[in-house]
Amino acid sequence: MSKRTDVNELGEFGLIEHLTHNIKLKNKSSLKGIGDDAAVLDYGDKMVVVSTDILSEGIHFDLMYMPLKHLGYKSVVVNLSDIYSMNAIPKQITISLAFSNRFSVEALEEFYEGVKAACDFYHVDLVGGDTTSSLKGLFISITAIGEGQKDTLAYRNGAKEGDILCLTGDLGAAYLGLQILEREKQIYLSNPGVQPDLGSNEYIIGRQLKPEARKDMITEFFPKAGLVPTSMIDISDGLASELFHICHASGVGAILNEGGVPIRPDVEEQAIAFKLDPITCALSGGEDYELLFSVAPEDLEKVKYMPDIYICGEIVGKEEGIKLHTKGGNIHPLKAQGWVHFGND
Ligand code: ADP
Ligand code: MG
Repeated sequence: MSKRTDVNELGEFGLIEHLTHNIKLKNKSSLKGIGDDAAVLDYGDKMVVVSTDILSEGIHFDLMYMPLKHLGYKSVVVNLSDIYSMNAIPKQITISLAFSNRFSVEALEEFYEGVKAACDFYHVDLVGGDTTSSLKGLFISITAIGEGQKDTLAYRNGAKEGDILCLTGDLGAAYLGLQILEREKQIYLSNPGVQPDLGSNEYIIGRQLKPEARKDMITEFFPKAGLVPTSMIDISDGLASELFHICHASGVGAILNEGGVPIRPDVEEQAIAFKLDPITCALSGGEDYELLFSVAPEDLEKVKYMPDIYICGEIVGKEEGIKLHTKGGNIHPLKAQGWVHFGND
């Protein structure tokens, strides 16, 4: 009998590494291949940055609480976020869709309204894609293309011992927004007459349904301050797992200060209402699409007074590992628990 290995044995990143470890880049223009938020292509004057993502119904989104217009908007934003996280500026996207006959023209129009709104807001052109059918459900694949300069791109692998770790905004809300929406869905399923109780959690639910990418940092604040991060990643899977990516790629360790991780009071309150530890929501929650980046110590002055920047730790030697310095003064190893998307179907 031939061997059958379950993909869960390798995990998402193990699988990618397993499938692609023997791929060698043949073209001089392929400056950066697999292993960062986006690939970087060197075409002379400008660097072309490319990133692609799939969103699959029932795994990444649930149409019971995700309006199609929001889904269109979010699908674009999550891709643009990967381009910004390279310190590059997105310019074009392509969209490929596969959908079952459950989806009407009107439904798809709604999705495209969201796509167009995001393209307008982020000043990005939709330049192509593909359309096909699926047996079941909606699949969305978006490729984002952006431009950057060779000497100012920010990779995952540039963090150095002594660098300062920074965040662009508060964390944990998107995950809690999802918990609220899931709770209301379950109540609705068992009693369709009951109206959803979304409470006064506009911000928290908004972070889940209508996230934004940090265009302002990349196009305004960083260039104005003359700041080039030594490494950067966007927070799609949770702060802990993104910090692991930076540390592994850079060959360094890190100390994350719990007190430096911004969590809004309403988010904290909501976490506690769900009997969750707020810092766990920030560390493992994901989907906040903020940027985690490191800066050289001499650039501290540049970030110190920048709006919406939070200093949350420092890069240390690899041998020191990746640790969390809690508010209570304890230091213990950080666990990376990003989201595993492989189901059991
Ligand atoms: P992100 O979380 O930022 O979307 P991923 O974890 O999906 O990034 O991907 C990590 C790296 O692996 C990226 O460089 C991505 O392009 C690459 N990658 C992901 N899936 C595949 C695949 N099936 N084949 C080749 N490369 C892949
Ligand atoms: Mg990413």
